[in-house]
Amino acid sequence: MPKTQATYQLTRFAPTPSGYLHLGNILSFLITSSLAKKHHSKILLRIDDLDQSRVRQAYIEDIFITLDFLEIPWDLGPKNQKEFSQEFSQIHRLESYKKALESLKEKQLLFACECSRKQIANISTNAQYPGTCLNRKIDLKEENTNWRLITNGHSIQFKSLESGVYNSFLPDNMQHFVVRKKTSLPAYQLASVIDDINFGVDLIVRGQDLLDSSLAQSYLSSLLPSNSFSDITFKHHQLIMHSKNKKLSKSKGATSIQGLRKMGKSKADIYLLLGDFMGFKEPILCLEDFEKAYIEKAG
Ligand SMILES: [Zn+2]
Repeated sequence: MPKTQATYQLTRFAPTPSGYLHLGNILSFLITSSLAKKHHSKILLRIDDLDQSRVRQAYIEDIFITLDFLEIPWDLGPKNQKEFSQEFSQIHRLESYKKALESLKEKQLLFACECSRKQIANISTNAQYPGTCLNRKIDLKEENTNWRLITNGHSIQFKSLESGVYNSFLPDNMQHFVVRKKTSLPAYQLASVIDDINFGVDLIVRGQDLLDSSLAQSYLSSLLPSNSFSDITFKHHQLIMHSKNKKLSKSKGATSIQGLRKMGKSKADIYLLLGDFMGFKEPILCLEDFEKAYIEKAG
């Protein structure tokens, strides 16, 4: 009897438009696509554009251009830049982020912090927030303050695609992490959690560099009113920057897909590079090749 295959409803591509899409983003999308195919999930394109100081229209446009160039489809979310700005920008969901922040405030889980990045860097060797403002009782209404979460040492667990359950604690660099920024806009961790809950995402595929974020987000979700975040299964994949592959490390600094195209690389060249990185034996020339090889390799 074949082992019963878990089915997931929805996974997502969630790029931040603060630069042109690079090979690392595409690798993540290809693994997401492969797992969506394997588990019969739909894919949502969610562009995380809350960090307005870093977002550029050209980077948003690049997401559509690059997905189109590499022929990577998705099922839900904006089909183009216009639909994105009219319906799908995170700016349209500020009300739901605000509601979550209010509930944390009511539970007295927040404190205001006026430290600058520089001040924190000066007193902390590992960028860990030392809790400077924790007991200063700065009014949350005070302007130009971050809202930080009062965190404690309780353990965190989430569902893992590889190991079933992943158990850990909040890492040092996430102690008292920011949930609302000095601009009054919600921080990435909070917006991401609320979006995943509201869209009904149940499979998150991301690089290993975001493991700390997954822990922070799981922790945060456990403090919010009853929600489905703990039903989400996570897959953290290996990163290109850790690659020993010469072809890839040589292209370091020039790994944006736009940059590679300007150098004359074709769609197939880019798939070949990524197939090579994954260690697939057969040449990978398109999405279907990648998905087939990935699903076979992953068993
Ligand atoms: Zn502070």
